[in-house]
Amino acid sequence: MKNPFESLEIWFVTGSQHLYGPGPLQEVSAHAQEIAAALDANEDQPVRIVCKPVVTRPEEIRAVCGDADQDPACAGLIFWMHTFSPAKMWISGLNHLKKPFCHLHTQYGAALPWSSIDMDYMNLHQSAHGDREFGFICTRLGIERDVIVGHWQDQTTRGRLAAWSRVAAAWHHLRQTKIVRFGDNMRQVAVTEGDKVEAESVFGFSVNTHGIGDLAERIDAVTPQEVAALCEEYNQSYTLAPALQKGGASEVSLQTAARIEAGLRAFLEEGGFTAFTDTFEDLHGLEQLPGLPVQRLMAEGYGFGAEGDWKHAALVRMIKLMASGHDRGTSFMEDYTYHMSPERPLVLGAHMLEICPSIADAKPSCEIHPLGIGGKADPVRLVFDGKPGPALNASLVDMGNRFRLLVHEVTAHAPAEPLPKLPVARVVWESKPDFETGLSAWILAGGAHHTCFTYSVNTAQLESFARMAGIECLVIDAKTDLRAFRNELRWNHTAYGLQGLGR
Ligand code: MN
Repeated sequence: MKNPFESLEIWFVTGSQHLYGPGPLQEVSAHAQEIAAALDANEDQPVRIVCKPVVTRPEEIRAVCGDADQDPACAGLIFWMHTFSPAKMWISGLNHLKKPFCHLHTQYGAALPWSSIDMDYMNLHQSAHGDREFGFICTRLGIERDVIVGHWQDQTTRGRLAAWSRVAAAWHHLRQTKIVRFGDNMRQVAVTEGDKVEAESVFGFSVNTHGIGDLAERIDAVTPQEVAALCEEYNQSYTLAPALQKGGASEVSLQTAARIEAGLRAFLEEGGFTAFTDTFEDLHGLEQLPGLPVQRLMAEGYGFGAEGDWKHAALVRMIKLMASGHDRGTSFMEDYTYHMSPERPLVLGAHMLEICPSIADAKPSCEIHPLGIGGKADPVRLVFDGKPGPALNASLVDMGNRFRLLVHEVTAHAPAEPLPKLPVARVVWESKPDFETGLSAWILAGGAHHTCFTYSVNTAQLESFARMAGIECLVIDAKTDLRAFRNELRWNHTAYGLQGLGR
């Protein structure tokens, strides 16, 4: 994936006023520049932080908010009130602002200068109440935003800003994402359905269909040279099963997979698509259900959802954008089967083929096996175990009057024993807070069987994403209590039924 952060900026905007004369305002400006430069210099900060002139009047605030909305490079803003900034000045600017912002609640000096503090110092360093005034107006106007509290030199504060910047940048790109679906959703499946018009209105991404024949045509146009080059790349990157090697009984099947991959990639590039879906029920003109090709395109950063699941194609793309540059693994996933052992019950996640090798614990094995459904030739796929470590599953569902993002924190483990007969990629994980509570909560919340599984993005980032989109977010983690969770579902059902929340 091309670096999604390099062309973007986060604007650092400091609020103040004229009550204390020009001297303090010059100090405010110097401090703002110093803080913005220090935050920008943080090596984990993915998006450039640009310091904007201090704003002190409603006209200036309106102008900077308007400029942010217009500037295609601006992914979001950081607001900070160094001194008091009477917040009626912010109403017009904030009411029009469409870009996401976070409120950085910090102070220039970390420690109180006990022996020298006087009224001048207090008047200059008063974000403790200036930021409360700003917070009031945001809440009064009903604006969702992140509030990051801490000293700007503190590594935790900087880390939270960097993490938020990743979400803002990914959100910026998601709003322009084009998703193509080859064929419709799998027949009769409920959870993969949804309102594509509403999705485009809420998230900005578009979802449009192409007949599978359009893709088949592009696959037919792939040259033998492209196929040969890809087969050589497979040979270098994976352990090829003997049948798929040069002269092997299924060498032609590997070439078919390569032709599908080249055609699919070209179709996506030529159409400007960065996420896609397919379905085993609609493969006319394709010899195999795309397995290896989909796995490799996901590893390149494309979003993918199987069986027409465009919501998870979008979510996989969004999370891959957020994780870009430090992705420890992010994949389309399905809760498949259980290990219901009393000591440590586990979920085995997999799909019929399409798991991203970015989550692989070791060099994947490239294999060919029959596929019982779809009625096509045996598909080539990468087989591997997922790596151990903390991870999460995220699911996006359409509740009819709103979108719900569900986040479930898990711990992935190495498989207890080898799985020599399982012909697909898989990963096993332990649910938080425990098997019974975690799965009860997931099912009560209507979480899908499809998810985006990732080691690289945390729950706080997905909550920020939900705030930017203005959608519901439910979290299942170590602290989840089922009775409280049931109440949250009940209260949200009522809250989103009221005008002004949800659609
Ligand atoms: Mn599925």
